[in-house]
Amino acid sequence: MEKKDYYETLDVSKNARKEEIKNAYRKLALKYHPDRNKSAGSEEKFKEISEAYAVLSDDQKRSQYDQFGHAGIRGRYTNDDIFRSTNFDEIFRDIGGGFGGFGSIFDIFFGGGGSEQRLTRGQDLVYETEIELIEAAKGLTREIEIPRSGRCDRCTGLGAEPGSSPRKCSTCGGAGQVRRVMSSGFAQVVRLEACRSCGGQGTIIDKPCTSCRGNGVVQVRRKIEVKIPQGIEDGARLRIRREGDAPVGGGEPGDLYVFVHVKPHPSFQRQDSHLVHERKITFTQAALGANLEVPSLDGHVKLKVPSGTQAGTVFRIKGKGMPKLQGYGKGDLYVKVDLVVPTKLSSKEKRLLTELMKEENA
Ligand SMILES: [Zn+2]
Ligand SMILES: [Zn+2]
Repeated sequence: MEKKDYYETLDVSKNARKEEIKNAYRKLALKYHPDRNKSAGSEEKFKEISEAYAVLSDDQKRSQYDQFGHAGIRGRYTNDDIFRSTNFDEIFRDIGGGFGGFGSIFDIFFGGGGSEQRLTRGQDLVYETEIELIEAAKGLTREIEIPRSGRCDRCTGLGAEPGSSPRKCSTCGGAGQVRRVMSSGFAQVVRLEACRSCGGQGTIIDKPCTSCRGNGVVQVRRKIEVKIPQGIEDGARLRIRREGDAPVGGGEPGDLYVFVHVKPHPSFQRQDSHLVHERKITFTQAALGANLEVPSLDGHVKLKVPSGTQAGTVFRIKGKGMPKLQGYGKGDLYVKVDLVVPTKLSSKEKRLLTELMKEENA
């Protein structure tokens, strides 16, 4: 399922001030806190709004989210990073009513002790790369090196030293979760929590692998070839499946998102698949007409400027723009001419221009 937009989740606008975000969260938290709201789905909803608040209340995370969306957050922060820096205490103290504080929020998210629950899918990673406009026009394959967590080869990801094997946890019977009954003022709350004996893994490793210390994953640097299609736009995002982090405890690796930035070009401005080039010509060229050479992405092209051309006139050279990302063909090259007035004149030029002026006044 597509993850919901954080701003929508809190029902605030994209440029909401911090105070508005806080008020929106406080209102929703009061409604959905699992200690208060026993209806199905309220805990999920509570997690959703708390995550949205944790991100949007932090300037750095908020700007990361504004730029790159959920992938930007997941690629850069763990659940711990997202929640630890948020002052939930303050919010719940304001609400009052025995909600407990940060500790209980953490219980809801991580099943107590602040340890993360077993992940079935690794985290997505974000990588940013910069290319030239000419590369964007032709498309390219770029080799990038990604530091990420990958399966440990020594123990094949099991976490146990070769020759030994993990055994089923007797506390939770291998489920990784235990039920905990808590009384919370006016009600009893039954909560599924990560098993503390096995840390939510469901298995216990007596002899941890010496290479990964029992995690089953190690940090690796992996080289990946990324195909950047021709015509790619600045800020485009490429998704490469299964090249993100491998999760601790086994499961699907996450995805890798490559954000492509196209550097500005000194001679061209890009407008979708079209390019705009500004060219200065002299008064005499404009008045008498001229054959010009203008730059394009594949060498110079000829442009005939007719006599009587006005400043600001735009000429179109068909098919000399960027390749279209969707579909076939190329955009056009637009050449906008501007008049340059000489600041220094030789005595001969001065004489000729004076003649011309007399002629105009006659
Ligand atoms: Zn267990
Ligand atoms: Zn290992």
